[in-house]
Amino acid sequence: AARSGGDRVRAYAPSMGQMFLRRFQLVTQFRQALETGQVSVHYQPKVALPSREVLGVEALVRWVHPEFGRLDPDEFVPAVEAAGLVDALTDFVLDKALVRIRAWMDRGLRIGVAVNLSVRSLANLDFPELVAGALERHRVPPELLTLELTESGVMADPQRALPVLRGLHTLGVVLAVDDFGTGYSSLAYLRQLPVDEVKIDKSFVFGMGSDLGDLAVVRSIVELGHSLGLVVVAEGVEEDTARDQLAAMGCDVAQGYLISRPLSEDRLEAWLRARTA
Ligand code: C2E
Ligand code: CA
Ligand code: CA
Ligand code: CA
Repeated sequence: AARSGGDRVRAYAPSMGQMFLRRFQLVTQFRQALETGQVSVHYQPKVALPSREVLGVEALVRWVHPEFGRLDPDEFVPAVEAAGLVDALTDFVLDKALVRIRAWMDRGLRIGVAVNLSVRSLANLDFPELVAGALERHRVPPELLTLELTESGVMADPQRALPVLRGLHTLGVVLAVDDFGTGYSSLAYLRQLPVDEVKIDKSFVFGMGSDLGDLAVVRSIVELGHSLGLVVVAEGVEEDTARDQLAAMGCDVAQGYLISRPLSEDRLEAWLRARTA
């Protein structure tokens, strides 16, 4: 499962010193970047299988830095988390997501948005209350908001994460375990978590057409997920054959470049119009 799909290759390899400096700059500039419009949210559609109906989108943060250009979240989110600044990011993305959902509702559309959570939020006992307040302010029903948490994030400290997960679950938001299959805990623990959805990590989905091991992993996650009553989502769907195999094994939802890349708000609106026209 080593193929990295359509990932870009870095143009040069910066030295350790340069990387450290850049990370330092990113962290110190992040709040200002949020306030000055350098940070935005892109949205990647998720469709039902086999119908291809649009069910929702995943919110993915983007930062266009004045000096470094377009930055991927894999570079700055971990730095922002380590610096203890991730709550500002979560607030920002959650707010944008709820504004979007509300705007669609006002046009008679029911499209959900999934927001990625940091481990840090799961350690914050006030987080469910914060989400409840945001839903109320934006007049959004909880079932249109999905919160994605990684398996390793939950498992890092299950005793701390569990009360927060239960609180969120009680609110009625949809809870999804992201990057499933890559962590160390997996199957047995999943049963004990109050979650609704499992997202098969894209590394397995990329490989499923050519690697029987990956195919077996995908199939067993679909079966396990269903036996636990969960909705199963596959991310990283890049090819027709993967989508068709997933549909055939009963996977519920597909997300990936085959359906669409993550899109800016404007381009998402155009994409939705073209789909429903
Ligand atoms: P993730 O949550 O696993 O998000 C899916 C990533 O896979 C996204 O990368 C998306 O662009 C990419 N992807 C989707 N379909 C395909 C495909 O078919 N092929 C390939 N090669 N890639 C695909 P992105 O946007 O670079 O985000 C990377 C990670 O950064 C996310 O992984 C998530 O862990 C984190 N992240 C993004 N936005 C946020 C955020 O608002 N808050 C937090 N805490 N983390 C975020
Ligand atoms: Ca995610
Ligand atoms: Ca993922
Ligand atoms: Ca990831």
